[in-house]
Amino acid sequence: MAKLLEGKEVADKIKQELKASVPGLKNPPVLASILVGDNPSAVAYVKTQAKTAASLGIVYKLHQFPTISEEQLIDFVLKLNDDPSVNGIILQVPLPKEIDYMTVCEFILPHKDIEGMHPTNIGKVLFGRARIAACTANAVIELLNSTGVDLYGKEVVVVGHSEIVGKPLAMLLLEKFATVTICHIATSQAGKLKEHVQRAEILIVAVGHPGLIKGEWVRPGAIVVDVGMNHVENDRIVGDVEFDAAKERAAYITPVPGGVGPITVAILMRNLVEAAKEQQS
Ligand code: NAD
Repeated sequence: MAKLLEGKEVADKIKQELKASVPGLKNPPVLASILVGDNPSAVAYVKTQAKTAASLGIVYKLHQFPTISEEQLIDFVLKLNDDPSVNGIILQVPLPKEIDYMTVCEFILPHKDIEGMHPTNIGKVLFGRARIAACTANAVIELLNSTGVDLYGKEVVVVGHSEIVGKPLAMLLLEKFATVTICHIATSQAGKLKEHVQRAEILIVAVGHPGLIKGEWVRPGAIVVDVGMNHVENDRIVGDVEFDAAKERAAYITPVPGGVGPITVAILMRNLVEAAKEQQS
């Protein structure tokens, strides 16, 4: 039976460190958050961010637009760039379909991009020089570190190759000399997902498809990190891995919710505090 890999403990440790370092800054760090529309998951994430920020002495300024054009949104980002009191900017997703996330994100100054999504910051991950790396990918690394596993030479399979999770995570894992396989929709379509998953000493899944990974595919003794968050019937949230069956085979497995999610928010705040330190020095 697997041990539960809960994110709360790791997140609490990060937050304790931040609580200790924030009062040492010249001014409380300021996070500008942009929310366009009222997507329920974005609204819920904003509430969590605001609550976490308040508990750490961080000023959370929410800028909400029921609707806005891409051009106007870029203008607003440029204003935040020019405002010296703003240390970090976050663009909540999903954006309405007429606004392209990356187009707008490229206008955020790299040192205010606390999500680590600006091409400059992504490029630094490639060179192993990231000060600010994508929050969810980093959260997975923190969670793996908490198990004490040495990633060197480990067979790691990542399912999902998005810009926010799978791709930056692959780079962070390579930095630690893991042997990384990335699977995605075409792997499934080619009928090869099961064979890759079965090899994984460490399995990380970020797809958004409940039950995609069958419990019986999990290699005995594997570490399973399920990033997926799927809203299903009766207001429940489940991951992408068949949890009950997988926990019988794995050594460690994340609960969903309660695995990667809490750490992601803590890392977002850590990125902000790092950005503020750099800007205030
Ligand atoms: P995305 O839609 O951008 O990417 C999905 C990925 O899954 C793609 O690489 C796609 O090729 C792959 N995929 C789709 N169907 C597949 C299949 N049948 N077999 C194999 N691969 C398949 O998604 P995303 O933004 O990376 O998010 C993925 C999941 O992670 C979602 O459930 C999201 O809610 C969750 N998420 C959680 C956190 C967190 O902090 N816990 C953060 C970000 C995303």
